[in-house]
Amino acid sequence: MIRYLPAADRGADTAKVDYNRDSYNACLCGGCPVNRSSACVRGQEEELAPRAEAIEREGLMPPPAIMPGIYCAIGKSSCEDLSSRKKCLCPACPVQLEAGLSKSNYCLLGSAAEVER
Ligand code: SF4
Ligand code: SF4
Repeated sequence: MIRYLPAADRGADTAKVDYNRDSYNACLCGGCPVNRSSACVRGQEEELAPRAEAIEREGLMPPPAIMPGIYCAIGKSSCEDLSSRKKCLCPACPVQLEAGLSKSNYCLLGSAAEVER
């Protein structure tokens, strides 16, 4: 269950997504063509794999710098080989819908707090 403030209860410039297990589990970035075409992201995924159980069982989130997703919460990807020509899956994401967000390509543009103004 994802819990976010309804859009109406958020300030005009406070669009925000929590960097937590709920967002991690709901995020669609892992299957996105933008992520899938990045060698850098594959490296992040390999680094993240040993931490997956800690995320699932204890909600221990890794440093955002190695997180290949939830960009609406953490901002632009640290990878520089992402392609803006491929289709972003954010418009179909539960996080996007439940947080009342309207943008996409957060991996390239920045967090929801930065771009949802
Ligand atoms: S809205 Fe996009 S960046 Fe945010 S969790 Fe969903 S798929 Fe990931
Ligand atoms: S933010 Fe959008 S374009 Fe970027 S990896 Fe996530 S789903 Fe794909």
